[in-house]
Amino acid sequence: MGSDWFDPEALEAERQEADFDQAALEASGRWHATRLRAARSALRRGDKERAAKLCPHGWRQELKGSGAREDARHGQEGFRCLDCGSYLRALVDPEEPNRPAWAARFVEVVVPCEAIPIGLVRGEA
Ligand SMILES: [Zn+2]
Repeated sequence: MGSDWFDPEALEAERQEADFDQAALEASGRWHATRLRAARSALRRGDKERAAKLCPHGWRQELKGSGAREDARHGQEGFRCLDCGSYLRALVDPEEPNRPAWAARFVEVVVPCEAIPIGLVRGEA
């Protein structure tokens, strides 16, 4: 268990968030990896709100799809983030309003970290 007051990964993620705009951040694989580590760190501390805020939600499963049969929300609109377990919904992309929901570039958290995330269970990082 780490301390909330000294979490270099989370601090770095927040610093990056403050310093760069969203498009630049998303172009950066390092950003993604840093955010993911910080999210997992928060999740291990039981801080679901923070984990959901930090997670890049890059590994998503559509809940209407057959791959989500085991999910408690199977058949509903939206996605499960397999990294943090959050229930997500697609946001309309202002640059591509007709982009299909399953390929959404932007999502928002409806319920933070409500399911056990596969990524964390696998014990990565
Ligand atoms: Zn996530």
